[in-house]
Amino acid sequence: MIVMRIYKLFILAVSDYCDMKVTYLCEGKTMTELQNTSNTTETETMVTGEREHQSLIISKSIPGALTNHSDVIPRVVIVGAGFGGLRAARALRKAPVHVSVIDRQNHHLFQPLLYWVATAGLSPADISSPIRSILRKQKNTEVFMEEVTGIDFQEQRVLMGDRSVPYDYLVLATGAHDNYFGHPEWGHYAPALKSIVDATSIRRKILLSFEAAEIETDPEKVKALLTFALVGAGPTGIEMAGAIAELAHKALVSDFRHIDTRMARISTHRNSC
Ligand SMILES: Cc1cc2nc3c(=O)[nH]c(=O)nc-3n(C[C@H](O)[C@H](O)[C@H](O)COP(=O)(O)OP(=O)(O)OC[C@H]3O[C@@H](n4cnc5c(N)ncnc54)[C@H](O)[C@@H]3O)c2cc1C
Repeated sequence: MIVMRIYKLFILAVSDYCDMKVTYLCEGKTMTELQNTSNTTETETMVTGEREHQSLIISKSIPGALTNHSDVIPRVVIVGAGFGGLRAARALRKAPVHVSVIDRQNHHLFQPLLYWVATAGLSPADISSPIRSILRKQKNTEVFMEEVTGIDFQEQRVLMGDRSVPYDYLVLATGAHDNYFGHPEWGHYAPALKSIVDATSIRRKILLSFEAAEIETDPEKVKALLTFALVGAGPTGIEMAGAIAELAHKALVSDFRHIDTRMARISTHRNSC
């Protein structure tokens, strides 16, 4: 706790732990069979979170969407338009299937460059593109911006609250989420770096630290404000550390009058969880 107080910024770069990172290509029949196995429980939990499966069997179809999955051409539903989901959709562009891509965001996010947004090197628009425009030319594909809340394996329907779409083939590509290794309270001190919101909140925290240091008169407090610690020294942690160093040593160096931004201390920590 003392360490946390000393450090102004405590970024959890280990947060890309992939306990939800699953990309399944599931044939309908197989999914029904899976329902009786422990794998099915894992798949359901992945999408539905803590909600009971029973409460998810609701069916009000999305207007315009096919309602019978035994229609002439097979219907493939892809949940998630990240790298995995988009690649699956693109691979099916010439296939004789109807593809529905469902994502809770209207944009695909290029996560590897999030750290540039977090350090003010890029704007959010530079690393995100609308899913609709990416798939615009793919005539066999439609896009829904919806939060998937569950799967009804028996009826072969993807559930989105009180709406649903049928599938013959299902691809779940919902990615990973941040993980604090059993310490959710760390999130308060250490924002994860997984979304645009995370990146802009880290950016705000970094830039406001320099601003606060500029008007601080106590040298010890200035030192604390200009100390940045990153937990996780994998590629993202190291990239973030380098980008903060570049910000402090180059980009901001002539912008402040009362502090020398080059005095910023940046450290990475691993195996400290
Ligand atoms: C900061 C950072 C840096 C990285 N750097 C690199 C790198 O340098 N090189 C590299 O190879 N990889 C890197 N990665 C990892 C890489 O970005 C991921 O492996 C990749 O994005 C995973 O792709 P995905 O399709 O599985 O999931 P994601 O890209 O996470 O996509 C999942 C999609 O599913 C959607 N979704 C999730 N749940 C639901 C739901 N219930 N309903 C509807 N939609 C939903 C999400 O909105 C999202 O669009 C980095 C990741 C991060 C966070």
